Amino acid sequence: MKKVICLLLAAVLPAVFISSCKAKQKKYSATKIMMTTVVTVTLYGGSEEILEGAIGLCESYEKLFSRTVPSSDISNINKSGGAATAVSPDTAGLINKGLEISLKSGGAFDITVLPLSLLWDVQHSAAPPDDASVKDALKTVGFENVSVNGNEVTLKNDASIDLGGIAKGYIADKVAEYLRSEGVKSAVINLGGNVVVLGEKSGKPYTVGIQKPFAGQGEAMLTLALSDKTAVTSGIYERYFEYDGKIYHHIIDPATGKPSESDVASVTVICDSSCIADGLSTACLVLGMEKSAELLKSYGAEAVFINRNGEYSVTDGLTVDTTGTLPMIALK
Ligand code: ADP
Ligand code: MG
Repeated sequence: MKKVICLLLAAVLPAVFISSCKAKQKKYSATKIMMTTVVTVTLYGGSEEILEGAIGLCESYEKLFSRTVPSSDISNINKSGGAATAVSPDTAGLINKGLEISLKSGGAFDITVLPLSLLWDVQHSAAPPDDASVKDALKTVGFENVSVNGNEVTLKNDASIDLGGIAKGYIADKVAEYLRSEGVKSAVINLGGNVVVLGEKSGKPYTVGIQKPFAGQGEAMLTLALSDKTAVTSGIYERYFEYDGKIYHHIIDPATGKPSESDVASVTVICDSSCIADGLSTACLVLGMEKSAELLKSYGAEAVFINRNGEYSVTDGLTVDTTGTLPMIALK
């Protein structure tokens, strides 16, 4: 039987890429740089208008959640000087989700790490900041400084919010919800490595590649078979600098004020909610594999870990088939 493989998006995706068999439905696809990453939405079936609607949704959510858009809800909160700030129900809901994951992860996930992210500025720095500056930046960090009352958000202790560890997942969920409401049965939403697949592809699960850490972009180490699920990867290999043989990456351990030193090079979380998977992937990277188990379980989520030696391991709800060229991971 002739097998047709079409590689989607492989060249542009930071963390994952997707392949699948020949489409029967008409394909609509758009790629755009948004949220400081590459966003690609691909529909099998639907219409150009639905695709435009999906991209439009990403744009409007970015305007709400981005800390660098001056008129966003997050900018308004961050410049409020501690006054209660009215925000959209989406923003309030997302902050509440962030706070929930902060609490459940024992503070490994924390939406107030912004002063530390700015201090480390790993995409522009060549050396770590001094310990006194880290200590100083840590003073305002702590999710207990954030309170949400209905649609009003209040910050204490000069704290500031950054939803970078969770917003893309939330937006991916919203796009999936919109596509379903428009009757789309098969689609792939990829917001810079936050992947949601809708349905299957020609009766088979989609195949999502998990990037080999520190290899060329698009080089998979593992593959995941997915249908109607999300897979979100956080890794230390995309945004980092190296100093004295050590990697300083963009995920901060709020306990130390420094980039996480767990042995995890990448973690891919698989579950139903991309928002949860996004928050969990960031948290698990900080916690390391062992300490992540309970947190993942509490959300019914599964995960694939790759450690800094390049070895992978999976949680109990996943199976691995090693008969192909690359190990193929699936839900049990
Ligand atoms: P990416 O956005 O690169 O896909 P993540 O979802 O893991 O990766 O989120 C990393 C982003 O989250 C950082 O760029 C920063 O904005 C924020 N962040 C960093 N450390 C933490 C943390 N411990 N808790 C919550 N957010 C964090
Ligand atoms: Mg995340």
